[in-house]
This record gives sequence, structure tokens and C-alpha cells, in this order.
Amino acid sequence: MRCPTCGSTEVYRSKRRAFERAFNWVFWYQQRPYRCATCMTRYWKKLEPRVWRHTLRVRGAKLLRAWGLYFGALVLAALVAWTMIYVQQQSLKDNLLIDTAIEQEMIKRLDETDLNSDQKERAREFFNENRDRLPIPK
Ligand SMILES: [Zn+2]
Repeated sequence: MRCPTCGSTEVYRSKRRAFERAFNWVFWYQQRPYRCATCMTRYWKKLEPRVWRHTLRVRGAKLLRAWGLYFGALVLAALVAWTMIYVQQQSLKDNLLIDTAIEQEMIKRLDETDLNSDQKERAREFFNENRDRLPIPK
């Protein structure tokens, strides 16, 4: 490899600076910094696709090893939380449905009796007051 400024072959890998490392993942993974030992010029050279593809794969695997477990745990926790909320909502809905059905059945049966309207009203009040004590399935 020759230096593009002076043509010297004494060229070495240069370290990436902090901000370059930060951008490296997104923009600059295809190239690599070099420095000429003769004229001190620093320049970037494009890597071959198979080289930077391999680098990306290695880094991805490393990242997965480091954070994969936490990420998996996070996804699992979210899934469990969502399921619990869903089941709770569903059972609340079901309970409401059962309550409504029982109430309607009670009213229907009340209407079929030959009680007068005052007695029916009192029976309805009794039902509403003692709703919690009635054997409503949970
Ligand atoms: Zn040079």
C-alpha cells in the first residue's frame, strides 16, 4: 500500500478517534484509517466488501453475546406483562358479562312472578344490596 501524498510504502494502521469510533458502526465500517510514517499524512482507505462484512458479522456476534441475554429477558418480560394484562382485562370483561346475565335473569324471573309492583321494587332493591353475597361465579 502506498501513501497517496508522498508515495511511501511505510504506511501503518492508525487508531480511530473517539468520535470516529462512535460513527464507525453506522457510516465508516467500510473504511479504515492509515497513517504514512514518512509524511505523517492520515487518510482513510476503503476495505474490500468481504473484509468489512466479516468485521460486521464478528461485531454483531460479539454484541449479541454481550447483550443478547438482557435483550431476550426484556422481550420475555414484556411478553409476560402483556399476557397478564390481557388475561386480566379478559376476565374483567367476562365477569361483567356474567353479572349482566345474572341480573337480567333475576329481572326476568321477577317479572314472571305475581308480585305487585311495590314488592317487585323491593325485591330488586334487595337483589342490588345483596349482590355481593349472591353465588355469582368468579
Ligand atoms: Zn506519505
